Amino acid sequence: MTTVTQPGAAGPAPDAGAGPDDAFLSVRDLYVRFGTEDGVVKAVDGLSFDLARGRTLGIVGESGSGKSVTNLTVLGLHDPRNTEVKGEILLDGQELTGAGERALERLRGNKMAMIFQDSLTALSPYYTVGRQIAEPFRKHTGASRRDARLRAIEMLEKVGIPNASLRVDDYPHQFSGGMRQRAMIAMALVCDPELLIADEPTTALDVTVQAQILDLIKDLQQQTGSAIILITHDLGVVANTADDLLVMYAGRVIERGTVREVLRAPQHPYTWGLLGSMPRLASNVAEPLTPIPGAPPSLLAPPPGCPFHPRCGFSGDVPGDRCRTERPELPAGRGAACHLTAEQKRTTFTEQIKPRLG
Ligand code: SF4
Repeated sequence: MTTVTQPGAAGPAPDAGAGPDDAFLSVRDLYVRFGTEDGVVKAVDGLSFDLARGRTLGIVGESGSGKSVTNLTVLGLHDPRNTEVKGEILLDGQELTGAGERALERLRGNKMAMIFQDSLTALSPYYTVGRQIAEPFRKHTGASRRDARLRAIEMLEKVGIPNASLRVDDYPHQFSGGMRQRAMIAMALVCDPELLIADEPTTALDVTVQAQILDLIKDLQQQTGSAIILITHDLGVVANTADDLLVMYAGRVIERGTVREVLRAPQHPYTWGLLGSMPRLASNVAEPLTPIPGAPPSLLAPPPGCPFHPRCGFSGDVPGDRCRTERPELPAGRGAACHLTAEQKRTTFTEQIKPRLG
């Protein structure tokens, strides 16, 4: 599994499939802060994980949890003028935090690529779909125009666009939303990147197309053996796609494990809340979803103690004032950053939360 440590944690899990030795991407003690008119935003607060080739890591959390900022930082797409980045990001042994823009540009689209959430803004309306797929291929491989066009057609076929040799000359507005998302995947994969970051890749799509796109990403991974980070606010999306899972809140990982472990026996009240707010196929359609009360904290001044305490319905089960004053650390290996005892986490989930999930 993917290993994650935070300051205070006892180190990586001993059973980790992607330990530092076989990790393709290794993030160590990453802090990302950026200046705004209102103050300094602590967007990522001491994050570490390893990801091996051929594995998919899901990162789940609400907006502002730090999941997208983490990945933009890995790609070097943050604004260096107002962003402070501390820690290590090693991609195949190469340190990225201090790398110059040229080196990062060489890696982006070639060794690492990103599928963005919104294909309408990520694709230029002024160029044909084929040209937008072919250009990065020419740039990174030096291929001729003709070969790059053939490669674009091949990629469109690979992502399931019918009549690819004709549709290659279409403009983005001539594609449906699902086809544009496929074209963006073709664009991201055209240079066979070894690390693919997909940021909410299916949010704007209907459920059927969503399932097709996720299957497509999985199939392509099986062919290429790439490492994938899948960022989403929806635990349903990672359920069938990811191997390992990080749940992020207020810039920190608050729960981690394999997807199976976290979905079968979640340990953190925030993860319980995410599960309770997810639509369920088997449930009565009239049964209302249970949103997590309140809103994510401001990262200008995160709450002291456990950052989830203002929204947590279980802080009364922890003796004294610990939830408001003492920050819970993430243990090594499978676990959650919460002061509830292991027994409390298990019985609360089994007796109170699980029956409500149906
Ligand atoms: Fe809730 Fe306390 Fe656990 Fe935080 S540490 S999630 S406030 S019980």
